[in-house]
Amino acid sequence: MQNHTLFSKLQPIADARQMLDQAGIDPFGTSMQNIISPTEALIDGRHTILVGTNNYLGLTFDQEAIEAARTTLQQLGTGTTGSRMANGSFSLHRQLEIEFAEFYGQRDCIVFSTGYLANLGVISALGNSRDVIVLDADCHASIYDGCKLGGAEVIRFKHNNPEDLAKRMRRLGERASQALIIVEGLYSMLGDLAPLNEIAAVKREHGGYLLVDEAHSLGVYGTTGRGVAQLQNCEDEVDFTVGTFSKSLGATGGFCVSQHPELDLIRYASRPYIFTASPTPSTIASTRVTLRKLRDGKHLRENLFVRAAQLHAGLAAIGYDLASEVSPVIGITIKGKENALAFWKQLLESGAYCNLVLPPATPSRNPLLRISLSAAHTEQQIEQVLEIFKQLAPMLEQQAA
Ligand code: PMP
Repeated sequence: MQNHTLFSKLQPIADARQMLDQAGIDPFGTSMQNIISPTEALIDGRHTILVGTNNYLGLTFDQEAIEAARTTLQQLGTGTTGSRMANGSFSLHRQLEIEFAEFYGQRDCIVFSTGYLANLGVISALGNSRDVIVLDADCHASIYDGCKLGGAEVIRFKHNNPEDLAKRMRRLGERASQALIIVEGLYSMLGDLAPLNEIAAVKREHGGYLLVDEAHSLGVYGTTGRGVAQLQNCEDEVDFTVGTFSKSLGATGGFCVSQHPELDLIRYASRPYIFTASPTPSTIASTRVTLRKLRDGKHLRENLFVRAAQLHAGLAAIGYDLASEVSPVIGITIKGKENALAFWKQLLESGAYCNLVLPPATPSRNPLLRISLSAAHTEQQIEQVLEIFKQLAPMLEQQAA
């Protein structure tokens, strides 16, 4: 205990960083010197194709959204300088809430400053020390953190395994009827979808409430882009839908929509709503435009899936170990941290950027190269990326040998 200092807990991070520095790799501090388009940036002076941005619909440079943000910036200023609960609610925020509720066909919506805060705010307000939350083991950190903040009992079920969920609900007995079940629509690491109908069937049998985080599936799945629940035709079974502006909507912010009249009360019980500043007016203005484009963006979704299929098939043909079926997220499992770091570095130096995810942030014990596609990718860009992966494939064969 004597050796404990305030900073000693950071020593393992310092050691890991030193290893990266020695290898000349900084996968967690990549700096985009310039953003050329939704799919290209200048990194280390190199023109780079981006295949790891979550910019699923490629709307970050939508001219109408930029114009709306610019006009609002001029009219309402650079920031709200306050929380939604105090001086930070402009009529624009409420307008966007009404538009989200209409888009989802739900009674109401709350807008938060980020998706992280939306999960934190909703889950902590619903799940207190007398409650139980049953969640998919692979849920995002913001979901786990929301559970911690509220103080509920947390029970994890095996990823995408409705039988395991049913087993845990059965064990809860009468408490199951008031449990909050939490899953995601599209899981962001491997690109796999939740079996929402089967999960909803468990809820029908045992009771409880279902919250679905559609952060990565908003704009991507469903005829109007509402997400996996729309795709799987089970939106009526979902009690709360949470999402973010930071992916398909190309901004920053978060929201929750629900049919329950109690949703509005969550504002008053939610510390992450009350104690932080609201999204800037220009952010709300651009999001109102991109939400409309997302709803009408069938052509964008089609292009996204054509490119996803192209890249998925190409990578599989080269022999890469892909984590799931075709989706706009492609996970490539790589054995060994050193191998993954070296491969990621080569990829970047060859002109392609994707995310490197290391355990414990990955679902398995292996590192993951995480690719995300965009509707703005061209056929030629995907060919270029495939060419790079083809050239680098021997690196992994040597490592496996
Ligand atoms: N939920 C999920 C499933 C996510 O992947 C993320 C972000 N990666 C969030 C919530 C948080 O969203 P935001 O970036 O808006 O904070």
